[in-house]
Parts: sequence; C-alpha cells; structure tokens
Amino acid sequence: MDRYEPVIGLEVHAQLKTKTKAFCGCSTRFGDAPNKNTCPVCLGLPGALPVLNRKAVELAVRASLALQARIHERSRFARKNYFYPDLPKGYQISMYELPLATGGSLDIEIEGRAKKKIGITRLHMEEDAAKNLHEGFPDSDKWSYIDFNRGGVPLVEIVSEPDIRTPSEAYQYLNTLKQVLEYTDVSDCNMEEGSLRCDANVSVRPRGETKFGTKVEVKNLNSFRYLSHALEFEIERQVGVLESGGSVTQETRLWNVAGGRTESMRSKEFAHDYRYFPDPDLLPVMVMEPLVAEVRRGMPELPAAKVARFVGAYGIAAYDAGVLTAESALADYFEAVMRAGAGAKVASSWISVELLRRLKDAGKDIGDCPVEPAALAGLLKKVEGGEITAASGKKVFEKMFETGKSAEEIIASEGLAQISDAGSIEMVARQVVTKSPENVAKYKSGNEGVFKFFVGQVMKETRGQANPQIVNEILKRVLAEA
Ligand SMILES: [Zn+2]
Repeated sequence: MDRYEPVIGLEVHAQLKTKTKAFCGCSTRFGDAPNKNTCPVCLGLPGALPVLNRKAVELAVRASLALQARIHERSRFARKNYFYPDLPKGYQISMYELPLATGGSLDIEIEGRAKKKIGITRLHMEEDAAKNLHEGFPDSDKWSYIDFNRGGVPLVEIVSEPDIRTPSEAYQYLNTLKQVLEYTDVSDCNMEEGSLRCDANVSVRPRGETKFGTKVEVKNLNSFRYLSHALEFEIERQVGVLESGGSVTQETRLWNVAGGRTESMRSKEFAHDYRYFPDPDLLPVMVMEPLVAEVRRGMPELPAAKVARFVGAYGIAAYDAGVLTAESALADYFEAVMRAGAGAKVASSWISVELLRRLKDAGKDIGDCPVEPAALAGLLKKVEGGEITAASGKKVFEKMFETGKSAEEIIASEGLAQISDAGSIEMVARQVVTKSPENVAKYKSGNEGVFKFFVGQVMKETRGQANPQIVNEILKRVLAEA
C-alpha cells in the first residue's frame, strides 16, 4: 500500500434551499405524501414548458462566490439524455458545455493545523430525478414505485479537481464544503434526506508517478462513514489488482453498505453517451454584474472568517473558535450569550463542553436548545461573580436544560446559593478543626498536605456551597489559632 498514492476527486450534489422546484412552482418539501408535489412540468408531460427559478440561480451564485469560483456571464442548460423510470422526459436538465462557474477552491484543514487548497473544477445547476421505491409496499416483491416529489428539485453539482490524496482528506473536504453550504444557506445539507450526496473518482498510481491511473467512479457515498469506508476499500482493491499484475477497468461501482465493499455497477459511461445538446425550451442564463453584486452583499460571514474574528474579538483560542463555529447556529448562540454579558472564556468553555454534551445526550440540535442564550449568560454571571460555585453551576445548568427554568428559580428552590458569609463558614471551620486534633498536630508539624483535608471537610459540611477562597482564608486563620 505504501508504494501507491491514491488520487481522489469528489462530485457533490447539494439540494438548493428553495421553496419551489427548479422549473415549476411545485413545493420542494421533504416527507409529503408520494406524488403530492407534481405538475405537468415535473412529470415531464408533453407540451409542458420549464421556467427557471430565480432563487435557485441566486443560491448557485452564492455557492460559487463562497468557493471563489469564476461565475460566467452566460451559461446554458443542456439536456442529458438517458432513459430511466425516474426520469419521464427521457433527459435530465443539467449544464454541460457552459456551466455556471469554474475554477474555484476550498481550503481544508488536515492533521490539525495545516491547510491544503483543493481546486474546484466546476459548479453547475441541474434538476434532480424522481425516486424509485423498491421496498416498503405489500407487493414490493412484484412492483417498484416511483415518487415524483423529488423530480425537478434544484441541485448544484460541485466537482473537485483530483487534488485529494487520502480518505481523511476526502472526509475533510466534504465536511468543509458542507459547512460552507450550510453557512451560506445554499443547502440544508441534510444527508439523511438526501440533500447532500457524494460520488468519488478514485485511482491509484505508484508513488512518484505523475500520470494518473485509470479511474473508477464510486457512487452512493451518502454519509461520511460510507465515504471513508468505500474509499479505503476501493484504494485497497485497486492496489490489489495492480499488484497481481492486472489493470484497473474504468467503470462505475456502487458502495454496497451491507457487504462493506464496492461492486461493479456498469461500464463507465462517457459524455458522448448522453448526447448532450442545449435545451431549446430554456434561454441561456445571463448572470450579470448587478446580480452578482446583490448576492455578494447578502453573503453571510464564512466559517474561516468567523474563526479569525472570534480569536481576535473575544480572545479565545483558535481551537475553541473552531468548535464554536462548526455550525453557524452555534456561533450565533455564543454571540448571543456574549451580548447578554457573559465573559468570553467562560462562555466558550461552557458552551463547547457542558452545552454540547447535553445536546448530544438529548439528541437535540442547537436550534432546539431548551436554554436561551440570555438564561445561560445569567447563570455564567452568577458563577463568575461567585454567587454559586462552578460545581453548583453545573447542577443548575442540568436543571435549566431539563426544565427550561431560569438560574434564579433553580438556585432558590434547590438552596444552591454559594455561602460567602464569613461568620457561618468560620463556625463550620471551627467545628471541623475541633473534631480532628491529630490532623491539626500534623499541620502544625509542617504537613501542608493535610490542609486539603480540612478544606474538603468544610466543603462537605456546606454541601459544596461555600466560597472556596473564603474557606481557605478562614481555615488558615483558625488553624493558626488552634
Ligand atoms: Zn411541478
């Protein structure tokens, strides 16, 4: 394996976040009853004419800008001809010779800090096909069903250069791309619902060789896990073929999830097999400078810029900024907590540790977090101000998360307010010291370690609610007097 170098390029399809389909007014809503959202256009009935969705173009332009690709003033929809039951027109409307944008790039982070630039060959728009359903009906052994709700939904296809060298780089690329598309609101990137899908072109070559080996297209890599497993399998398979003296066949293979292997699906089709030609029903797409400028103005801050700003403005570490900006909704939450007056370091650590852990355990997203940013800020201010200890704070937070109540209510009802009253702490300290004359003797003879024992006893008597700093001061004085 070490003598070979894998060469990988990814083709990612992302569903654009529009309310209606690419060329008709049907809803794109996921999960509706089969064939509810259809009309003559997306059913491909004779005589129906497509009309391009402006919002879809704007989102595709936005994706192109985020990937620093060159947007072409004039692009054109073409017909990609093939027959399949989920494609009643006999062709898919896609872009071929004149794609919307070309020549972009995406920086990915590999092994911690290092950055690598992955080239983007092209970005084009197309419509999705319908969905064949082979399972789930009483007579599924005899019939297949077709749900046309997905037919005609707008997609962008983003094709990378063959710049990726390992399965983990491929993972990082898809992850970073997903993050950019989510941030810019181009796509919801919901992989379970098929809004983000990935195919890979994979080849191997002896290390040091500059020519590419024969590539195989691997389809159906629709989760991060499948992507990693399928690439690892396919690379090993190709090396095996070459090592045994054979040659790799150019073909399309399918990732078989249950079998954990790629399987030959069909011999590779070439572009000429599709008989592409410009779609005569659609005018060329003209994306002029005013539209690009308008989209650019509405462009949200991108993840890399946000990380840099968090480090600069809030003084938090780059790693923490990376955790907080993984999702734009999480970054917004953090900033709302900051606006409500919490300190940056404490907010950063509570959100990235306590909050994310509780969300994960509850199977929730930040979007349905039961603790409002202002409520968390309220709690953090109490911890920072010494009204409650950090340990009690965590208990309060747990209750806030479960009940949605405010910190004040929980602290009052649970009696968790920190004891800072010197008089009552001193009383407890004296009791503790009186009870352990032998430890007092050890302390007097210079055993500093035993001091911790006394602190522990005072904390135990006060159920962890005594202010630790005051406990320290008082204990030192009481022990000196003992
Ligand atoms: Zn329709």
